[in-house]
Amino acid sequence: MNPNRKPIIAGNWKMYKTAAEAVALVNELKRAVADVKESSVEIVVCPPFTALAAVGPVLANSNVKLGAQNVHWEKEGAFTGEIAPAMLKEHGVRYAIVGHSERRQFFGETDAGVNKRAKAALANGLRPIVCVGEMLAEREAGQTSAVVASQVRGCLAGFTQDEMLATVIAYEPVWAIGTGKTATPEQAQEVHALIRKLLGEWFGGDVASQVRIQYGGSVKPGNASALLGQPDIDGALVGGASLKAADFAGIIRGVL
Ligand code: PEP
Repeated sequence: MNPNRKPIIAGNWKMYKTAAEAVALVNELKRAVADVKESSVEIVVCPPFTALAAVGPVLANSNVKLGAQNVHWEKEGAFTGEIAPAMLKEHGVRYAIVGHSERRQFFGETDAGVNKRAKAALANGLRPIVCVGEMLAEREAGQTSAVVASQVRGCLAGFTQDEMLATVIAYEPVWAIGTGKTATPEQAQEVHALIRKLLGEWFGGDVASQVRIQYGGSVKPGNASALLGQPDIDGALVGGASLKAADFAGIIRGVL
């Protein structure tokens, strides 16, 4: 972590929790992090779309912000199964994950589509959390840097400096997501530093030094502090461990 960048810990609840279960979980989380100051860490939860309407009012005026797990680029239209930015904003959503590896792997999302989703989010006052990360075979073939650089370039194509500053990048090695295998702090730091270097080349050093880059992949209370202690790791995108208030709170406390 770098003191000039406020850490951001986001929970991706994936396809877990009904609306009623989601309300119970955020109430528990609110109690668990009641003493955490917004000035020291940004906390975000991303429940399924169907829980946003119920969870939004519960999080109003709290130190936990609401995020969504995806967003479409059009304002409205014949896009069955998709959700427009204004539909999210109506429920108090502030962040939208785009390009999660599960969207890429199982639903065919591409860097070009992720770019359109992120741009639409930004145009509507939502902050995108843009996910990138290599597959195991790519890491083993020594292609991690090339793969991540190409994803970052594709997802951020055409961004202005202001858009970049409003964006969070999540580096999530696919082999570490939901597997219990975490990148070592050194492996993660190496890729985060590469991403920041690329941002510097494209947007200038000043912008690059302000953009927050989260690590994601089996982050737990026990490994969070070591990962978040790295100079270019500015937070975590947490899947499984965000479904238990005590574990998610434990990760949040790892950055304090
Ligand atoms: C994720 O879904 O973004 C994620 C990192 O999952 P997990 O923490 O379960 O590996």
